[in-house]
Amino acid sequence: MKIIKDNRGYATGIIMLILLIPILLLLVITIEEYEHDVNSTVESLESNKIKTSTENFEEELILLTKQSLHEVSLDVIGSGRALTNSRKELKEVLQSKVDNATTRFLENNIIISCHIDGIDSSDNPFDIEVHYSLEATLNSSKSKISKKECRLVEITDADYPVYDPLPTLKTGAVFDDDRVYYLNRLSGYITLDAGEAYSNAVQPVTVRQCPYNTYPEHGNHNNTMLNCIKNHYYHNSHDGLCLLCRLENRTSCKDYGFETFIIPTVVMEQAPASIDHVLLNDKNAQYNGNNIRLDNNTIIYLDNGHKVKYGL
Ligand SMILES: [Zn+2]
Ligand SMILES: [Zn+2]
Repeated sequence: MKIIKDNRGYATGIIMLILLIPILLLLVITIEEYEHDVNSTVESLESNKIKTSTENFEEELILLTKQSLHEVSLDVIGSGRALTNSRKELKEVLQSKVDNATTRFLENNIIISCHIDGIDSSDNPFDIEVHYSLEATLNSSKSKISKKECRLVEITDADYPVYDPLPTLKTGAVFDDDRVYYLNRLSGYITLDAGEAYSNAVQPVTVRQCPYNTYPEHGNHNNTMLNCIKNHYYHNSHDGLCLLCRLENRTSCKDYGFETFIIPTVVMEQAPASIDHVLLNDKNAQYNGNNIRLDNNTIIYLDNGHKVKYGL
C-alpha cells in the first residue's frame, strides 16, 4: 500500500515538473521581451534626439549662410575689392562657421559633421543654393543620420542684409550706411553723351525683392512705381547679373539675375536708361531711354523694352 502511495507521489512530482517547464519558458521569454522593449525605447529616444538635433542644426545652417552672405557682401563693398571665386570663398566662410556650430552641439553629446559641398546660384536670383553632406550621431548610440542635401537660402532677409557690390566695384562710388553716393563717378563711367544726368546720384544697395511681382503692374499707378523706387527694389532679369557674379565684378552672367533702377538727378529729353545693368555695363553696350515723369521731383529714362516690362 505504501509503495503504491510513494509511486503516486513520484508520478505527481513528474507531472508537476512537466507542467512547470512551459511556465518557466514563458517567464524567460517575457523577461527577454521586456528587455528588448526597454532597449528599443532607449534606441527610439536616442534616434529622436538625433533627429531633433539635426533639424536644429540645419536651421542654424540657414542662418549661418545668411550671415556669411551679409558679411562677405559688406566686406566687398567696404573694401572695393571683388572676389575672384565667390562660390569658393563663400563656401570657405560658411564652412568655418559650420565647424564652430558643430562644436557647440558636441556639448550635448551630439556628434555632427557637416561638409559644405558647394554654394551656387539658383533659378530664383533671390535665393542661393547650399549643398552639404551631414552625419549626426549620439555619443553612445548605434542610431545615425546620414544625408546629402541642397537647401535654398533667401538673400533678402532684413535681419541679414545683403549688399549689391556692383555700383562700388564698377565706378568706385562711396558706400555709407546701406547706400552708395556716386558723386561724379557714375556720370564719368557712362560712355554715352548725357552721362551728367546721373551727377551726384544716390542709390541704396540692400538687395530687396520687389513685391509687385507682376511687373506691368508698376505702370498701373504712379504710387506703385514711386514706392518701388523709394524702396529701391530689385527685379528678375535675364540681362542683370546674379549676386555671385556681382561679387566677382563680372560683365556678364550665365545665371538668371536681377536688375534695379538708378534714379537720375538731371532732367533731359533723353539720357542713358536708368537700369543698373545698362549704366554699369562695361561692354560698350549702354543705351538711351526717354524721359518718364513720375512726380514733380522724380523722373527716369527708359528704353522701350523696359517700358513694356514695367507697364509704363
Ligand atoms: Zn518694382
Ligand atoms: Zn551669375
